[in-house]
Amino acid sequence: ATTTMDKIVSLSKRRGFIFQSSEIYGGLNSCWDYGPLGVELKNNVKQAWRRKVIQERDDMVGLDASILMHPRVWEASGHVAGFTDPLVDCKVCKQRFRADHLEGDKCPACGGELTEARQFNLMFKTFMGPVEDNAAVVYLRPETAQGIFVNFNNVQTTTRMKLPFGIAQVGKSFRNEITPGNFTFRTREFEQMEIEYFVKPGTDEQYHKEWIDRRFQWYLDLGITKERLRLREHAADELAHYAKGCFDIEYYFPMGWSELEGIANRTDFDLKRHAEYSGQRIDYFDQEANEHYVPYVIEPSAGADRGTLAFLLDAYHEEPDKDEVRVVLKLHRALAPYKVAILPLSKKEPLVAVAKEIEQELRKYWMVDYDDSKAIGRRYRRQDEIGTPYCVTIDFQSLEDKAVTVRDRDTMEQERIPMAELSKYLWEKLAW
Ligand code: ATP
Repeated sequence: ATTTMDKIVSLSKRRGFIFQSSEIYGGLNSCWDYGPLGVELKNNVKQAWRRKVIQERDDMVGLDASILMHPRVWEASGHVAGFTDPLVDCKVCKQRFRADHLEGDKCPACGGELTEARQFNLMFKTFMGPVEDNAAVVYLRPETAQGIFVNFNNVQTTTRMKLPFGIAQVGKSFRNEITPGNFTFRTREFEQMEIEYFVKPGTDEQYHKEWIDRRFQWYLDLGITKERLRLREHAADELAHYAKGCFDIEYYFPMGWSELEGIANRTDFDLKRHAEYSGQRIDYFDQEANEHYVPYVIEPSAGADRGTLAFLLDAYHEEPDKDEVRVVLKLHRALAPYKVAILPLSKKEPLVAVAKEIEQELRKYWMVDYDDSKAIGRRYRRQDEIGTPYCVTIDFQSLEDKAVTVRDRDTMEQERIPMAELSKYLWEKLAW
């Protein structure tokens, strides 16, 4: 069964994954804060991405560009002129909607008549420096990609990468969305994980296909249910102005199939435009062919927040357990906020001392939770609900046999492990 959004919103608040922003002031529409568990989860999503697309590859490097960029960047990229959504107002209730998200031609809230659609630019504007005039306008970036394109020469000269190679970056982007919603799915401030993979023109379609397969597999490898993931090709009239082809990886969210990641063939559009607007030479010298050309670029562009939401929804399970219901987040071990929980069976001194010592040792390697409150059953439940893959209990027997019990979240099976071997045992279990 599909997990409802309400269940995830409520679990997120109850356990500290995601809170409404500025809640004590009544909240700010569509803005969310990642709590103690959420920040670990989202960081793990980003880390799993960086590991696969940078660390494990010899043809990829990272970048962390500034959010504020020269205003000319957004003229060159086409965002000033064309980064718009069609906006309609209801003549009766005055609500606003994105025209391309409406099904009929009436207001979905009150059935009233709608105005003609007009184009609304999604970029957030602000002013740089103390003077608030047109000359000081800067934009909060609506995508991280442009930070990569404008650094193409810098990265090339400093790394001497040969085509094909890619630059990957994670960072915040901002879009003044007309209709944000569905929890963290569509917000005005969000984080993207973007790759620009530069290739020789003519080889672009082959690399486009490779990246589609690779990125699809990434979600499956991290535990997303196969039946809830699909690939959708953009129709010609849906393609962005710069794209030759685009595929979306979609997840079956509670509101239906929706985009998780887009993988576009952006051709040489961006590099050529930046060369034109900046007056700088931006190209690649192919030593083998002894020629200069402008590379094509394949862009896998994912949302860290949307990904995190999909992983949460997909991991959520309610299972019958005796007379009760066990809520368990079956998060992949790479993503789980805490990898291990240390649970001494009693608060008595000799047990606590041993438990604390184990905790300190394991904290060197992983995020570890420690809980010595209440009945052990309740403590297991709590760890299940936040997705902790392993619980380690220390009992009075442990003082004698120098061993602990390790419980597996998914199978609930328990194994007795000598304390001296615990770290090694967990290393093997948690490797991915
Ligand atoms: P949509 O059609 O949903 O508005 P898009 O096609 O404009 O999305 P892209 O420009 O392709 O999105 O952005 C790449 C990725 O960035 C998306 O797949 C998504 O994961 C993420 N993203 C884009 N806009 C938002 C947003 N408003 N909130 C959260 N994530 C977003």
